[in-house]
Amino acid sequence: MNKKRAVVTGGAGFLGSHLCDALLADGWNVVAVDNLLTGRRANLEHLENDSAFEFVEKDICEPFDVGRVDYVFHFASPASPVDYSIHGIETLKVGSLGTFHALDVAHKYGAKFLISSTSECYGDPLEHPQKETYWGHVNPIGPRSVYDEAKRFSEAVTMAYWRYHKLDTRIVRIFNTYGPRMQLNDGRVVPNFMKQALRGDELTVYGDGNQTRSFCYVDDEIDGFMRLAKSDQPLPVNIGNPNEFTILECAKFVLEITGSKSKIRHEALPQDDPRQRRPDITRARRLLGWEPKIDLATGLRLSLDYFRKAVAEETAVK
Ligand code: UDP
Repeated sequence: MNKKRAVVTGGAGFLGSHLCDALLADGWNVVAVDNLLTGRRANLEHLENDSAFEFVEKDICEPFDVGRVDYVFHFASPASPVDYSIHGIETLKVGSLGTFHALDVAHKYGAKFLISSTSECYGDPLEHPQKETYWGHVNPIGPRSVYDEAKRFSEAVTMAYWRYHKLDTRIVRIFNTYGPRMQLNDGRVVPNFMKQALRGDELTVYGDGNQTRSFCYVDDEIDGFMRLAKSDQPLPVNIGNPNEFTILECAKFVLEITGSKSKIRHEALPQDDPRQRRPDITRARRLLGWEPKIDLATGLRLSLDYFRKAVAEETAVK
């Protein structure tokens, strides 16, 4: 019997590349498509000799066709606040045009479709924790809007293809995720703190550090994606770890786990930085039997080798 074939847009990114691994382990043939704007070939290096795997360098803001596929996983987009503020127009384009093109591939081949959405759809939330039924509190013209509104639009297009074309779709709303293969310089809090702690630099806490985030280790996150992919749930599902920490607490964890003596330095809080974020995962628990297993301290320990190596490589290049 022919193996099932999946395409992963954004397949060279942090989450996209881990998803490729999980699909290959699950017996799929996998095509990763990426224009390498923020994705990296290094994330896929270990798959170079895998005959079930293929990489196509392509910008999906143009129509694309990689041949028959049974599943489209649409993960292409800059995702860190630093990346999407540098690449604002590209972020809006990939969320809109790119999503249409990815959906058109699924429609053409009668494939299933799963899109990576985000807790950014909730903006600076007034409801806490955030349930999927919460419509969000988003500034449509602020600096984060290029990502937030692109993702909200991409959810709307996905639901439209589900309604009008009867496409078999899924939407995952991803909360802060961390782990190996995060780009050292993508500006997100875990790579920043890890890098600063390992170099003995000051940890940059933005604002008073009392804003909260709920961090999910990448393996738990990917397990949630795979379960959702195999479910028949078209409505958005939060996949994230409900254990909530202040950013100051996160800094202290990083200092403890790295054994670093770095000090903390406070810097200005970026505009529209959400005060709090925590997923309500009742829906994922009930529909997918999913919940995260790895707590923050364990996940940071599991990530340490990767960050050590990344810092050493960066230092060697300089
Ligand atoms: N943050 C911080 N120092 C850093 C990077 C981020 O204090 O060096 C804060 C940021 O202001 C936010 C939280 O950490 O409140 C998470 O930021 P990140 O960029 O990782 O993702 P976000 O959840 O904002 O998309």
